[in-house]
Amino acid sequence: MKIAIIGTGYVGLVSGVCFSDFGHNVVCVDKDSNKIDTLKRGDVPIYEPGLDTLMLKNVEAGRLNFTMDLEGALDGAEAVFIAVGTPTRRGDGHADLTYVMAAAEEIATVAKNYIVVVTKSTVPVGTNRKVKQTVAKANPNLEFDVASNPEFLREGAAIDDFMKPDRVVVGVQSERAAEVMKEVYRPLYLRDFPVVTTGLESAEMIKYAANAFLAAKITFINEIAALCEKVGADVKQVANGIGLDNRIGNKFLHAGPGFGGSCFPKDTRALARIGQEYAVPMQITETVIEVNEEIKRGMIDKLLGLCGGTFNGKTVAVLGVTFKPNTDDMREAPALTIVPALIGGGAKVRVCDPQGYREGAELLPGVRWVEDAYKAANNTDLVVLLTEWNEFRALDLKRLANKMNTPHMADLRNIYSARDAKRAGFAAYGSIGRGGFG
Ligand code: NAD
Repeated sequence: MKIAIIGTGYVGLVSGVCFSDFGHNVVCVDKDSNKIDTLKRGDVPIYEPGLDTLMLKNVEAGRLNFTMDLEGALDGAEAVFIAVGTPTRRGDGHADLTYVMAAAEEIATVAKNYIVVVTKSTVPVGTNRKVKQTVAKANPNLEFDVASNPEFLREGAAIDDFMKPDRVVVGVQSERAAEVMKEVYRPLYLRDFPVVTTGLESAEMIKYAANAFLAAKITFINEIAALCEKVGADVKQVANGIGLDNRIGNKFLHAGPGFGGSCFPKDTRALARIGQEYAVPMQITETVIEVNEEIKRGMIDKLLGLCGGTFNGKTVAVLGVTFKPNTDDMREAPALTIVPALIGGGAKVRVCDPQGYREGAELLPGVRWVEDAYKAANNTDLVVLLTEWNEFRALDLKRLANKMNTPHMADLRNIYSARDAKRAGFAAYGSIGRGGFG
C-alpha cells in the first residue's frame, strides 16, 4: 500500500517512519526544503529517541522517501495524511487551520485517483467536514473520502507510542474509507490493539477531550501540591496514595512547574474556544488554563524566595530547558517563562540541556550554554532543576554544592529530597509540594 504524509514534524515524520516499518510504501512531503534536504541525507531534523535508526532501516529497504513534490507523492497513494501544525491562532485561542486547509487545497489540485484524505493534525470539531468541502470545491471531479485519525504519541516515546498505542482512533463516513484505514493499520489490528471507529466529530472530540483531561490531571496535582506545601503534607506521598486507586491511576500525578509543550497549552485553549463558539463553556478546561498560569507564576516566587528576594546580581544555573526530557522541543516550555524572568530580574543565567541548544539558542537570548551540570553550577547562587533528563537524576549533590557560591537548589521536578540536599551541603532547598529548608 502506498501512503503519502504531508508535514515531517514530530508527528508526520514519526508516522511516516512507523508506517514504512509496517511494510507500507511511504512518501513524506514537506514544504521546508531544509528539512527535506536533511532527511534525504539520512539525518533526522528533530531529536526523538530511536527515530534515526528506524528511519535509516526503512530508507535502505526502499519503503521510505522524502520529497517536496506532492504530485509525485500522491501518484498511486491510497491515503494521504495531513500532519501539519495547528498552533494557536493569534488573539483568540482558536486553532490556526491555515496549514491544514492549504494542504487540503494542494491535495485537491494534484490528486488524480481515489484517495482518502486523513487528518492527523489535532483539529477542532467540524474541520474534517471543512477539509471535505475544500477538496470537493477545488477539484469537483476527484473521487475521495475524508478520515479523522488524531495522533496520541508523546514526544520522547513517540515510536513506542505509535507502534504499541493504547488505541487508534479512526473517524470515517464511508465503508470504503474504513477499509483503507483498516489496511493502513493492519499490523495493529493483527496484534489486537484497540481501534476505535467513530464518526468524524467524535474522533475530533476524542483528541481534545483526552488532552484536556490530562492537562486537568496535571493541574489538579499541581494545585494539591501548593496546598501540601502550606499544610505540611508531601505531594509525592499524596500522589502515591491517590494514584493506587484504580479509578484514579498513578500516571500524570507528578507535581511540577506547570504544563507546557507543543500540545496541552494550545489544545486546552482550542477546546475552551470551541466551547465558547457553541455556547457550552468548557469551565473546567478554562480553569485549568488559568490555574496553570498561576502555577507557572508561582515558580518565579519560589525562585525569588531561594535567592533572598531578588535575582539582581545572582548567577543561576538552569538544568533542562526543553518542555520535557528526551525531546528537543521547546514549544511553550516552562523555561521560556522562567529564564526571561531570571534575566529580567538581573540574574546571569547558565543553561545546560542535552538537546535544547538547537532551538533554545534563539529562544533564550542572553544565557550561557554549558555542557554539564557541574560546570553550570560553578560559582552560582542557585541551581534550578527544570527538566528531569536522566543526566540530572543522579547528580553528585555534594560535588554540585561544593562548586556553588551559595548552595541553593530549586528542584522543580521533585527528583531529590530536602534530606539529600541537606546532607550534600546545600544551605537551601525548595521543591514542589513538599517541605524544604533555607
Ligand atoms: P511540526 O510543527 O513539528 O511539523 C509540521 C510540519 O508541517 C513542518 O515541518 C512544516 O514545514 C510542515 N508543513 C506545513 N504546511 C505544509 C504543507 N502545506 N505542505 C507540506 N508541509 C507542510 O508539528 P507537529 O508537532 O508534528 O504537530 C503536527 C500536528 O500533530 C499538530 O496538529 C499537533 O497538535 C498534532 N500532534 C502533535 C503531537 C506532538 O507531540 N508534537 C502529538 C499529537 C498530535
